[in-house]
Amino acid sequence: MPLIGFDEIVGQKHIIDIMRSSLRDARVSHAYIFDGPSGVGKRTAARAYAGALLCAEPRENGPCGLCAVCVQLASNNCMDLYEVDIEERRIVIDQIRNLQSDIIKRPLYSERKVYIINNAETMTGEAQNALLKTLENPPGYVVLILVTSNYDALYPTIKSRTVRYSFRRNSRDEVKLILDKKLGPNFPHRDFLEAYADGAAGAALDMSMVEGLPEANEEIINVIFLLKKGGVSQIIKAYQFFEKHKEVYPVISKMMRFAFRDLLNARIGGAEGELINNDKKDIILRNAPDFSTASLLNCIDAIDESERALNSNTNFELMIKVMLLKMQEEMSQ
Ligand SMILES: [Zn+2]
Repeated sequence: MPLIGFDEIVGQKHIIDIMRSSLRDARVSHAYIFDGPSGVGKRTAARAYAGALLCAEPRENGPCGLCAVCVQLASNNCMDLYEVDIEERRIVIDQIRNLQSDIIKRPLYSERKVYIINNAETMTGEAQNALLKTLENPPGYVVLILVTSNYDALYPTIKSRTVRYSFRRNSRDEVKLILDKKLGPNFPHRDFLEAYADGAAGAALDMSMVEGLPEANEEIINVIFLLKKGGVSQIIKAYQFFEKHKEVYPVISKMMRFAFRDLLNARIGGAEGELINNDKKDIILRNAPDFSTASLLNCIDAIDESERALNSNTNFELMIKVMLLKMQEEMSQ
């Protein structure tokens, strides 16, 4: 875990303020839940708070960066910090038992020991029950931080013994700031990534790392126009695109929704319509009048249906071809 100051967290001021005052007044709870949507900075905040709690002389911005503990934190080698994360899609009881056998050992370098449980919602029932025993009677030096994007998945008995910090979606400006910081000011496809973030900068950062994605976003509009021409052969051609990006279908599906939303906005608002794919404004404006509003809305419905079908384990090829056929029928009317 690198050393993280509070100034690295964009937004979430309501939480940073509470963290700061808790450090100032030395009013620290034994257990916290950091909850909120994925990709809004919960884990980063948990690490910043952990650093400040462990540091010998925390400052307004969190850890001092100079003391022995901070040096350890900066080199990813702090014995008083313990992180738990998913193994094989879950957090199982053995991981909590390991944590518990560590908890009974006193801190080595700090006044405290901090335990971060990431993706806490994936704890099995057994794991949650085991953790409960620790929450009922933790040693005085322990601070536990449960990080989750699904608060409801945690047992009420766990919730009642923790202090909850709820993280909010990032504003559009915050997303911009985070992407600029992490990807540099001239990163490609920025309009698309900003829109894709939808209030969670982390989602866009993940997206920026998917291979071949910019090209896929270029192609998607052409796939739609191809389908509109009608005919089975176009469906087969269009399907190849989806087969190629099968592993990242949720991303592709979101792109497709954006493309139809852009066509719809151009159809309704003309040149004034606000587009996500601003770089393709010309081609979208030129083609939008060929689509009816109803057909565009129905195509978006077809995408929603395909997502539901995919979640219920329907055959991928069948699901996509059914969707493409529906779209084609809509667009050719
Ligand atoms: Zn320090």
